[in-house]
Amino acid sequence: MNRVYNFSAGPAVLPEEVLKEAADEMLDYAGTGMSVMEMSHRSDRFQRILDEAEQDLRDLMKIPEEYAVLFLQGGASQQFAAIPMNLMQNRVADYIVTGQWAKKASEEAKKYGTVNILASSADRTYSYIPDCSDLPVSEKADYVYICENNTIYGTKFSSLPNTKGKILVSDISSCFLSEPVDVTKYGLLFGGVQKNIGPAGTVIVIIRKDLIRDEVLEKTPTMLHYKIQAEAGSLYNTPPAYGIYICGKVFRWLKRMGGLENMKQYNEKKAAVLYRYLDESRLFSPTVQGKDRSLMNVPFVTGNKELDGKFIKEAEQAGLKSLKGHRSVGGMRASIYNAMPIEGVEALVAFMKNFEKENGDHV
Ligand SMILES: *Cc1c(COP(=O)(O)O)cnc(C)c1O
Repeated sequence: MNRVYNFSAGPAVLPEEVLKEAADEMLDYAGTGMSVMEMSHRSDRFQRILDEAEQDLRDLMKIPEEYAVLFLQGGASQQFAAIPMNLMQNRVADYIVTGQWAKKASEEAKKYGTVNILASSADRTYSYIPDCSDLPVSEKADYVYICENNTIYGTKFSSLPNTKGKILVSDISSCFLSEPVDVTKYGLLFGGVQKNIGPAGTVIVIIRKDLIRDEVLEKTPTMLHYKIQAEAGSLYNTPPAYGIYICGKVFRWLKRMGGLENMKQYNEKKAAVLYRYLDESRLFSPTVQGKDRSLMNVPFVTGNKELDGKFIKEAEQAGLKSLKGHRSVGGMRASIYNAMPIEGVEALVAFMKNFEKENGDHV
């Protein structure tokens, strides 16, 4: 077996320990004689997997009792519709557009009401987070929406926007469990788990219970009505059972790693190795500066498309996989989620230094 360093933005690297445990339990989960994949979601054994996963997530994120945790299907993108359907009582919502995911979410919301774009960083290819300290928040806004870590562009909100008392809704898909978060600052947090927690197909919604309403927009599909999902304990229909089981394992792995405070320190240390080199390199440049830099997704370019292509190809051959940047930014992107060991980042930087030495005459 030969594991590579996988820098994919998602689905992405998972902790080796978790994959090994899952492999060990594939044919016989905890003496049940079956895989979790084959297990009824109405069984006591599965209920325990779900309850433990929820409790471990609550412990890690210090989620207060006033918030519900839902394990749903449909990915993060389905929530782009579910959120306005459940929360747009006045049919007005404010969006801060810091990248493609926030833009897509805002466009989905436009189907249901008036969407105001409070701020955007589209003018410079979303390479920064706009100043959100004094935004023209709409008087009637049902919520203010952000995408907290911008997976494609490598930016992250270093502080939350001033929503002037309005509910904050945040897409945390690509920074989920990468650092501690004060859940009480939000009305709703959600994320697809395939970036930092588990296999694609599961999305986690953390919602303040008073926002789980009977009254939602007319014709909201049953599956997208938070109240129905919450009352059924995420078991209205068959949940993404195997995905939830893997998420539970990752939560326990994070607890063994010392929780989110430790994870943050480790992620800062890892990202610093890469950013420090990018800041001094004469060949590679980071596309994001200063406090807006993501700890999870690090885009960089050489400024020469051919050279970018050569780098990606040679890196692949050296076991450094999926470094191609998103087409809207070009160049490269290293996604260095929780499960990427520091050795992977060090191997990448060593490879880049060598590549710079060999190709430095291009600058
Ligand atoms: C990947 C991603 C999405 C889309 O997730 P899907 O589960 O594929 O719908 C949305 N938001 C962010 C921040 C992402 O990184």
